Amino acid sequence: MGYMAKPKSRDDIRNTSRLIRKIQSAEKELYFPIVDFLEKTLPRIIPGFTFRVGEVEEMGECHGLTFPERNEIMIRSDVYLRACEGSGRDRLTMAHELYHYLEHSKETVVFARTGTKNIPPYKDPEWQADAFGGELLVPYDLAKDLTIDEIAEYCGVSLAAAKVQYRQIHK
Ligand SMILES: [Zn+2]
Repeated sequence: MGYMAKPKSRDDIRNTSRLIRKIQSAEKELYFPIVDFLEKTLPRIIPGFTFRVGEVEEMGECHGLTFPERNEIMIRSDVYLRACEGSGRDRLTMAHELYHYLEHSKETVVFARTGTKNIPPYKDPEWQADAFGGELLVPYDLAKDLTIDEIAEYCGVSLAAAKVQYRQIHK
């Protein structure tokens, strides 16, 4: 038993990330200001949207939580503070939650009983949100000539995430 979302290809997800960059006027920037986007831009363009920083006691193991029905994204305070300082892993967590907010809701995600077979990645909401995080923070169109180290440094992602995106770009 797992969750199943509407199928999304890497290209679909990449296009969504381009749109988000356009909304933020960051089409030409290697470093996407994900904290600003969630904290300032999204509340401005979606009335009723709330970005909330939650305490560790309240959120436990969860680094981020998204409540589509409540129009809310909640990020754990330590994750938020590290993201503000530019920590790649925490910035990715915020981008990941953004995708859940944009694409996943009660209407679009269902429980799926798939027997022995696993849910294919393109229908797995967690895979989709991770893929989006990578695409948003590492712009495909701008990062083509960068090395893995440069991607990590200029785009503000972890070395692990930089490797994943490097492979996507040079496929
Ligand atoms: Zn998730």
